[in-house]
Amino acid sequence: MNLLPLPAFTDNYIWMLHDGHQAIVVDPGDCAPVLQALKRLGVQLQAILVTHHHADHVGGVDALREATGAVVYGPARERIPEPLVRLAQGDTVDALGLHFAVIDVPGHTAGHIAYYCAAFDGAPLLFCGDTLFSGGCGRLFEGTPAQMLGSLDQLAALPGDTRVCCAHEYTLSNLKFARAVEPGNAALLHYTTQCEALRAGHQPTLPSNMALERDINPFLRTRQPGVAHAAQAFDAQVHQDDAVAVLAALRQWKNEFR
Ligand code: ZN
Ligand code: FE
Repeated sequence: MNLLPLPAFTDNYIWMLHDGHQAIVVDPGDCAPVLQALKRLGVQLQAILVTHHHADHVGGVDALREATGAVVYGPARERIPEPLVRLAQGDTVDALGLHFAVIDVPGHTAGHIAYYCAAFDGAPLLFCGDTLFSGGCGRLFEGTPAQMLGSLDQLAALPGDTRVCCAHEYTLSNLKFARAVEPGNAALLHYTTQCEALRAGHQPTLPSNMALERDINPFLRTRQPGVAHAAQAFDAQVHQDDAVAVLAALRQWKNEFR
């Protein structure tokens, strides 16, 4: 089984899984890179998995369904181009011989879902859309900080070797912010060096893995004293033992950060 990120727009990845015959794609915001890859690889599109309703994730769905007859799966509580198999927490998707569990991860959007495959070529696999990025998290367009914290906690509890397939290449700018939050985090500094080398060679920094994210991603580290302290330095109202307030402050700080 092959896993590859198809670059789209300026910084999106459309993740593709294929076995040499059939393929799945996740969040095809544009049909063109997917149609090109299907042709190049000589594979048929079996299923389309959608994490949330934003145009850069669903823009190619109708054209791909029409061109390939693929079945479209997506969040039950969002407006996605029909026909759609509607999914929520506890539902499963079987495609390409793989078994995906659906996790509700509200925050970036109200009905955002993630897809988790516990058994994929020796390590688990997560498609988390715009909820979790390497070194960061999605903006809170529709959800509350409490919802986002609950969503990130659920993802952070997945096995450490879970490959984390995010929908955007935001890693370097996220790591710049993460270093402002935790300037003394050695793992973060080491990872930054690795990612800078990858991007200098025009390579994706993704997938990441969950053990690494737990060590370097400030949005998964809201209960670490150093992170809570930095959040309080940004916003004096924040109580350091209030992880929701810490997350809210970090998100606000990141929104303003350049
Ligand atoms: Zn989005
Ligand atoms: Fe997006």
